Amino acid sequence: MREYGKDNELIRAVCNGCKKEMKVEHGILKEGLFEGVQRFGYFSEKDGITHKFDLCEECYDRMTHSFALPVTEIEEKEFL
Ligand SMILES: [Zn+2]
Repeated sequence: MREYGKDNELIRAVCNGCKKEMKVEHGILKEGLFEGVQRFGYFSEKDGITHKFDLCEECYDRMTHSFALPVTEIEEKEFL
């Protein structure tokens, strides 16, 4: 969950999985935080609904380790 202040500056970020308060300094998130956004469409039971959530790295790892198939891992050569 992310809260934004005036000028759309990030003021607070909390993991939806464990309620961990993430480190935010001057509008910049200083820790890894997964942002999940899913817009459900016509062929879904949740047509027209959008779900958003954030997971700290620990909760992200717990979720992905429960997958039957592992995530695809790609090593980025350049950081922008
Ligand atoms: Zn968490």
